[in-house]
Amino acid sequence: MLAPEVEGRPWPEQVAIDDASYRAQLAYLFDRSAFYRDKLTSAGFASAEAAGGLADIALLPLTEKSEIRATCTPDNPIGGHLCATPSEIVRIYSTSGTTGTPSYIPLTASDLDNWVTGSSRSYAASGVTAGQRAVSSYNAGPFVAGAAIEAFDRIGLCHIPLGTGNTERLMSAVELLGPEAAILTPSYAAYLIEWAAERDVDLAASSVTRVLVAGEPGGGEPAFRAKPEAGWGARVTEAMGIGDIGVSLWGECEEQDGMHLGARGFIHAELIDPETGVAVELDDGATGELVLTHLQHRAAPLLRFRTRDHVLLRLGECSCAQRLSHPARE
Ligand SMILES: [Zn+2]
Repeated sequence: MLAPEVEGRPWPEQVAIDDASYRAQLAYLFDRSAFYRDKLTSAGFASAEAAGGLADIALLPLTEKSEIRATCTPDNPIGGHLCATPSEIVRIYSTSGTTGTPSYIPLTASDLDNWVTGSSRSYAASGVTAGQRAVSSYNAGPFVAGAAIEAFDRIGLCHIPLGTGNTERLMSAVELLGPEAAILTPSYAAYLIEWAAERDVDLAASSVTRVLVAGEPGGGEPAFRAKPEAGWGARVTEAMGIGDIGVSLWGECEEQDGMHLGARGFIHAELIDPETGVAVELDDGATGELVLTHLQHRAAPLLRFRTRDHVLLRLGECSCAQRLSHPARE
């Protein structure tokens, strides 16, 4: 664990801290977010005080990605939820989106720092530690995954960036530099096994003992995991983020039994029935669509954002820290 005082914090204590953050976030939204001021006022909440605390969050309206998109204009291509001034914004990522038009994701310096903090906890949950070497296939590019690269620095890894499409260079680095970890998408991790087999390279005998996968769903599913674990001779763990909310919010630990919330304190997670939108009780074993709320965000915070990801919630103790959820995407 990278931050035991945070990651090992009893959940009721975390909820109390999050409740205070949430109330401050709501006040910020009423002050700075034209989108949420209108949306909440229309829903009958005239002020942050009227909207209450986390215990009442399910009374507030959900946010659909399409609503945000509908507020984008030539003058404000980011959307009506933009709260920060241009001078406060230090990074703008974009998502590819399904409609062809990118969505822009602005971050202030504190937003970016929080993203990197959460992401570093999620990746460190896998067991990688400062001083170890890790090859990665992530391109910084326009996508939020670029922020994960800063998380590798935060952990203190010796990061060996290879980018995508450099298979020979990556395999040479594995052979010559002896990294303990490889950080890849699940599909690329699988491709490299085939690539190695075709060239009689014994990947399972390499120095890599941990393969960290992210960027695509399914990396933590037992049916997927068996093959890369055998092919790499390594433990495979998954990390997951939601582009609009944060990079690598969750990460799997060595127990390989669901992901922990690395972004503790930065986001609040809820489950809803995807058909009705009604909140689901957060009991152990609960399933539903993940709905996320920023707690300390500044540039373009989201409230009760529908992720369209379906997850299973686990609340039992884990040998490393408290378990929050095991996303099993459908
Ligand atoms: Zn754990």
